[in-house]
Amino acid sequence: MPQLTKSAELFEKAKKFIPGGVNSPVRAFKSVGGTPIYMAKGSGAYLTDVDGNTYLDYVGSWGPFILGSMHPRITAALEYTLKNIGTSFGTPIEMEIEIAELLCKIVPSLEMVRMVNSGTEATMSAVRLARGYTGRDKIIKFEGCYHGHGDSFLIKAGSGALTLGAPDSPGVTKGTAQDTLNATYNDIESVKLLVNENKGNIAAIIIEPVAGNTGVIPAKPGFLADLRTLCDQEGIVLIFDEVMCGFRVALGGAQSLYGVTPDLTTMGKIIGGGLPVGAFGGKRKLMERIAPLGDVYQAGTLSGNPLALTAGLETLKILMEENPYPELERKAQIIEAGFSDNLKKLGLNYVQNRVGSMSCLFFTETPVVSYASAITADTKKHGKYFHSLLDQGIYTAPSQFEAMFISSVHTDADLEKTIKANYNALVESQK
Ligand code: PMP
Repeated sequence: MPQLTKSAELFEKAKKFIPGGVNSPVRAFKSVGGTPIYMAKGSGAYLTDVDGNTYLDYVGSWGPFILGSMHPRITAALEYTLKNIGTSFGTPIEMEIEIAELLCKIVPSLEMVRMVNSGTEATMSAVRLARGYTGRDKIIKFEGCYHGHGDSFLIKAGSGALTLGAPDSPGVTKGTAQDTLNATYNDIESVKLLVNENKGNIAAIIIEPVAGNTGVIPAKPGFLADLRTLCDQEGIVLIFDEVMCGFRVALGGAQSLYGVTPDLTTMGKIIGGGLPVGAFGGKRKLMERIAPLGDVYQAGTLSGNPLALTAGLETLKILMEENPYPELERKAQIIEAGFSDNLKKLGLNYVQNRVGSMSCLFFTETPVVSYASAITADTKKHGKYFHSLLDQGIYTAPSQFEAMFISSVHTDADLEKTIKANYNALVESQK
């Protein structure tokens, strides 16, 4: 059991100056209880906290660390930029063209791209563009999907909002809330119904093509293609939010994995290599409406920041050179099979969902295909499971409704250790 004396002290102090002691809600461990852990250092697949405990990390900064923390090439590239280029200019820099060109090459839907500073900025901007382009106000999202904390998305949202029981947030005006319609994930009829009821008024359908903020929920075969067809028929802009699954489930994202091309794509996490980044892009005829070329305004003091672009570019280059995806799939299969064996041994029938190196063990026997089935999970049992893993030095997301991420630096020995810990934690979860 790790000693968390210093973490506890820091958390007490933080609460005086920072709301809830944290700068992003799920970090506070509210749904699993206990003391949030203050990390002091990350290296590869391991984290060390301020009390000197080490953990095998499956959060990976919530997705960016597909190559682990402090990858030597990324660190070296950052050092070079810091010493030889600078931290910010507020002018165009050559690196911006390099990353834009590379992203357009890698992601099927991209003909033009704009860099921003977070996933939230990317989704807010993409929706504004879709509204500007179509001249329509309403958008359709899916219950339990999370697209950042923009006002339009905090209606039946996933991630921290769901974990903390606040999927609808005060502060979002009625007008904004009215323009966001929620459909059921993996249910095309629910989408058609909303489209028919709001004929000619839907600007965009935004979806996580692999849902990762209600735990992990893969899109059923044909669902994304059906959305594509519907959007084409109705003149609706289809937005894939690939902030989490982009460059994670495949280099070209879920859109290359499933062969469905959206009109706009939002990105983040991995393309920042651990620094704050987001991006949105898509078809030229849409992206040409962005200022200064077009009339839809979007801007950012630090957008295209040299340090963030350096970390992102180096990450993308490594992913292209090393193609870690087959190896990530192999490792994820080992974890999935190991967890399955453990469940079987214990006579438990919990559901596991996985796409590539994104996975989730749900504490429910109901197949999880949407928000409604995800919330049948027993979050109390998950909390016990989480703490038992933590006690055994395994750091997973402090919420049932988040993904477990495997990175290229997890070794087979790490996986074996995790499978053993999973067995013990499953036992604890039943107490
Ligand atoms: N979209 C998705 C699919 C996400 O998973 C997230 C963050 N978890 C966001 C958008 C928001 O990104 P950020 O936290 O960088 O604003």
